[in-house]
Amino acid sequence: MKRRRFLQNVALGLPAISCMPSLLLSCKKEELFDDSSFSGSVAIVGAGAAGMYAAYLLNGQNVKVKIYEASDNYGGRIRPLKNFSDFTIELGAEEIRGNNSLWYDLIASTNAEFVTAGLTDFYFVDSLLKPEGEMTGDGDFLHLREIVDNLANYSGADINAQIYGNIAGIAGRIEPIYNAWVGNDYGTSNARVGMAGIQESKNLWASGNNKYRLLHRDLFSIIEERFSSILGQIHLNTPIVSIDYSSSKIKLMSEGGEKFEADRVIVTVPLRILFDNVIDFIPNLPPLHLQSLSNIGMDKGIKIILRFSSRFWNDNTYRIYGSSLVPLFWAPGSGGKSSANDVLTAFVMGEKAEQLDSLGDTMITTILAELDQIFGNNVASSTLVGHHIMNWGDDPYIRGAYSYPKPGTGNARALLAEPISDKVFFAGEATHTGGHFGTVQGAMESALRAVSQVLKT
Ligand SMILES: Cc1cc2nc3c(=O)[nH]c(=O)nc-3n(C[C@H](O)[C@H](O)[C@H](O)COP(=O)(O)OP(=O)(O)OC[C@H]3O[C@@H](n4cnc5c(N)ncnc54)[C@H](O)[C@@H]3O)c2cc1C
Repeated sequence: MKRRRFLQNVALGLPAISCMPSLLLSCKKEELFDDSSFSGSVAIVGAGAAGMYAAYLLNGQNVKVKIYEASDNYGGRIRPLKNFSDFTIELGAEEIRGNNSLWYDLIASTNAEFVTAGLTDFYFVDSLLKPEGEMTGDGDFLHLREIVDNLANYSGADINAQIYGNIAGIAGRIEPIYNAWVGNDYGTSNARVGMAGIQESKNLWASGNNKYRLLHRDLFSIIEERFSSILGQIHLNTPIVSIDYSSSKIKLMSEGGEKFEADRVIVTVPLRILFDNVIDFIPNLPPLHLQSLSNIGMDKGIKIILRFSSRFWNDNTYRIYGSSLVPLFWAPGSGGKSSANDVLTAFVMGEKAEQLDSLGDTMITTILAELDQIFGNNVASSTLVGHHIMNWGDDPYIRGAYSYPKPGTGNARALLAEPISDKVFFAGEATHTGGHFGTVQGAMESALRAVSQVLKT
């Protein structure tokens, strides 16, 4: 059976007919689902993409499953902002990264359409805003592109990307673009992301290089539609504060003191929640799990959504690369998503997110000043009509953007994904070992792996 078809079947809960080693580790289809004699109950902690997909798969196997979600809604880092402009804005995941994944296939199984319009990226370099086409005559830019295109072939020490940039001779005038393409894209800054992890993830990446956006829908509506059968099993407003796996029945307790029992638990909370010891594991997490939590990064990340009374950027603009605190802006309504196309999103991760965060609400003035510098004539500050700050580091149940490799991350994700005593299982983007960490497909694929592990017990 072709890979695409296999993925589609699994996504739709149909029996899988062959095994995808890259996706399911080393397994046979019989081992994954059909030969399962597991008849116990499963508690899932967290109702993001991983938790919802895990519940969906377990439902398909008639396993009793309940999801406990801390916040007042499901979706996790898939979160819509409605009624801000004439289209729904994505506060978290936005682009579908590649068309060769469970996630893409799940979307394709709805009637959702993708943006197909050809759009242009712009770069603010040497105090001038230049379209992509003009940059192709810039030697420093071409040199940077060659370096970034070859990150999969990196073979040096596990230094950070900033040091590597210096060694590789990336020109200072082009360095903000390097940070936007690499550090910021990995959810941090060049000074924090590790070269070995970048190299490995580029080699393991299997879902394709094109990026897609939905035309008239939002990602939340997709998971709501495709996972409708499990929505009734989600207990919202139920932050889990302890998981006692010391006896045969696992006992979970919520912040409000409610007690739940299950035979297995799949923990899908973001890395920071585990790192900050929000959940008291009894007995404690094993030393290798604890160590791996420190070896994987997850920084602050902010999306600032800005709406203007009139558009001052070209209608065909997609991304605008800045040169100061905001590495990257884009027009989320471009390509036909919005008739007004009056919104810009600022996407700021890592060190720059920390700097912006320290400004509090005055970060808006700073960002507008940057746009005024790029477009001139105070055009941004004089036409702003609304803003929304989504500071993921401040969300008490997320506490950051998404996981990234630090220098020295090594096999930390594999260690974190190890089940404990065949009772406690881990899923979520940070536990993905095949290069798709930090993405929705990574979260779903990790859920598939955790469910197969549960069913084998
Ligand atoms: C700004 C931003 C932009 C992104 N852009 C993209 C993109 O373009 N493309 C892409 O593919 N991915 C993107 N991502 C990453 C993607 O959103 C995530 O990788 C994915 O959604 C993570 O899913 P998850 O299930 O692992 O975790 P989550 O979605 O975080 O789900 C975990 C759930 O656990 C809950 N929880 C936490 N603590 C507890 C507790 N104690 N008890 C019970 N529940 C708890 C949380 O409330 C949350 O709902 C982006 C993320 C961010 C933040």
